[in-house]
This record gives sequence, C-alpha cells and structure tokens, in this order.
Amino acid sequence: ITVSALRETVAGERRVAITPEVAKKLRGKGVRVLLEHSAGAAAGFPDASYADVEFADADQISREADLLACVLPPDDTALARLREGCVIVGQLRPHDAATRIRVLAEYKLTAFSLELLPRTTRAQAMDVLSSQAAVAGYRAMLIAAENAPKFFPMLTTAAGTIRPSRVLVIGAGVAGLQAIATARRLGAQIEGYDVRPETREQVESLGAKFLQLGVSAAGSGGYARELTAEERAAQQQALAEHLKVFDVVVSTAAVPGRPAPKILTAAMVDGMKPGALIVDLAAESGGNCELTRPGERVVHDGVVILGPLNLAAGAPLHASEMYARNIYNFAELLIRDGALKPDFDDELVAKSCVVRQGEILLKA
Ligand code: NAD
Repeated sequence: ITVSALRETVAGERRVAITPEVAKKLRGKGVRVLLEHSAGAAAGFPDASYADVEFADADQISREADLLACVLPPDDTALARLREGCVIVGQLRPHDAATRIRVLAEYKLTAFSLELLPRTTRAQAMDVLSSQAAVAGYRAMLIAAENAPKFFPMLTTAAGTIRPSRVLVIGAGVAGLQAIATARRLGAQIEGYDVRPETREQVESLGAKFLQLGVSAAGSGGYARELTAEERAAQQQALAEHLKVFDVVVSTAAVPGRPAPKILTAAMVDGMKPGALIVDLAAESGGNCELTRPGERVVHDGVVILGPLNLAAGAPLHASEMYARNIYNFAELLIRDGALKPDFDDELVAKSCVVRQGEILLKA
C-alpha cells in the first residue's frame, strides 16, 4: 500500500504529517511512502532527509495514495481529487465542517479525525490533542516572555535587583502544565489555577503554587464541566482580586465540545497592572478573555491581550515529530497483513471515524 502526505496548505502551517523517522518505520512495514515534493521542508525536513521515499506532485499523490496523512485537512478541491476508497487520517476539525464532510462522503472516502479519539490509556500514543497542546503551551509562554516588558527571572546586578515576574496560568491541562514548566525554566514566580481539584498536585509538582479560588467543576472522563452562572460569578469575583498582582497571565481553559469558557472580563482586565500581558491560548475557540481577538494584539488600558493562533506550527520540527509518531501509532491499527483493513470493532478506530466509504458516521 502507498502512504502519502501532501505539503500542508493552510496559511502559516509548517508541520508535516510524515517525518523521516516515521517514513522509515512505515518502510519497515513494507509500506510504500510517497510524499509531495518539499512536504517536510518547512518543518526542517528537506526531501534529502527522507531515505527510501518517493516524491511526486499533488496530482500523482491523489491518484496513488491509499492512506493520506495530514496535519490539517487539505482543501475541498484537493479532497475531491483523491481516488475513491482513499483513507485520510489527521486533525480534520470535523465540527463546523459540514461541507468538508459532505465532500468526503461524496467522493466515497474514509476519514479518521484523531481529535475524536477517546482519551484512554491505549490512545495516548496517538493522542494528537495532547502532543500538540504540549507544544502550544510551551510556545504560549515563550510568546509571553518575549512580549512582556519585564524579565521573567530574578536578576541581581550592579544596577540593582530585578524582581521576578509573577505569572498565572489559568487551566492546568496538557497545555497549561507545559506553560507552567516553561515559565519555571525561565525563572518566573508562577501560580496555576484550574477547576479540576486533581490539578493542584500536578501544578505543585512543577514547583508552582496552586491558586485556590473555591470553585470545583470536575466533569466526566477527566475533563472539566462547564460552570453554572453562579459558579462563574464566584470564580470571577475571587480571581479579580488575585489578578492585580500578576505581570503575565496565560490562559488555556477549555471544555470539550464547547466554546472556550469566558473567565476574564473587561472589568477584570481593568483591574490589572498597566504593562500586564495576557496570552490567550484559547483564542482559537473564542478565547478565555472577553477582549481577545483571535490572531490579534489588543491593548486595553495599558494591558496587552494576545490571541495567537495555531501555536503548534511555531515549533514545527518537534511538533511534527510528535504528530507523525501519533499518526504512525494510529496507522498501525489500520494496516494489517500489509493491507489497509481498519478494524471497526476497535473503539479507537470506530470512534475516530468521521466518514466510512462515503457513509457519514459523525453525528454532529
Ligand atoms: P482541555 O484542553 O480540554 O482543557 C484545558 C484545561 O482547562 C483543563 O485542565 C480544564 O480542567 C481547564 N478548565 C476548563 N474550564 C475551566 C474554567 N472555567 N476555569 C479554569 N480552568 C478550566 O484539557 P486537556 O489538556 O486536553 O486535558 C484535560 C485532562 O485530560 C487532563 O487531566 C489530562 O491529563 C487528561 N488527558 C488524558 C489523556 C489520556 O489518558 N489519554 C490524554 C490527554 C489528557
């Protein structure tokens, strides 16, 4: 069988779904690897870094690929060119993508969207949400450090002592914990906050202080649930008091399948120090701050609010390495005895399938 990846086409996307390491592992399984010219170049993998791999243009790939791996979905025209029966694996962003799903179905394709994998232990090795959230959390904190008017670490110099920046991370999931770890490495004085009580220990294990606001909202499957209106008011009131001391806030809060919870109101931002900085990693799903504008820089009374998008693409080499391993581990569930035979009795296969040979399975 032929496994392929195209050059990603979304603006600013630099990752690639198949790295040299994963291409080699696929070859080891007797799979033919056919990539679009320069597919990995923007991630730091020029064609010459792939051994024993064939390169072609997008047209040839559309005709020959049995399995197409992608980071973000190819545009609808590219999907429509794929041959019937082709299997697509990637982050297909299936929610809010009715047209894309219709195209996949119309052209009798089979599509697996890895964001839909259950977050079970067995799925961890293919969990793209986790691997890419770790990159995003790291990048968000670097963006914060770069844009803040202050140093992160304490410095004792002949020109006086510089006090460390005080940093708050809201939402201590995969991205938040990586943001905390990154701020620690940069020497900031850091606090973390989440509505899931079990995150306290995780935050503290990274050497940060846990900010206790008295609102607890553990949901199902290890996720948070949405807060009630009363809980949200209580959270905002308690948080507003604390916000005054922070130089940097990185927010990462999310609830599966829902728009990002609005945690920081304009009034709360009004109470922050002039020169303070908010990096809203939830910008992609609407933002945790009322003032966030996705992809933009907003200045509100001296407080800067950044809403960076597609942060994982900003560290494309390692992001691709992790992503491609996720893809490989998932592809192992699809390829049996040298042929593409997805086992739909496996819940990881069944639950991540959006379209199966033209039949729409995702009930959006
Ligand atoms: P996420 O991206 O859905 O959310 C980020 C964080 O925001 C979560 O920690 C959540 O509790 C928090 N949050 C939500 N609403 C909030 C609010 N109003 N105020 C403050 N914080 C709020 O989460 P995630 O990073 O994808 O992971 C969440 C959990 O799933 C973690 O426990 C993680 O360890 C677990 N997980 C398990 C697996 C696995 O076993 N395969 C894989 C990944 C993650």
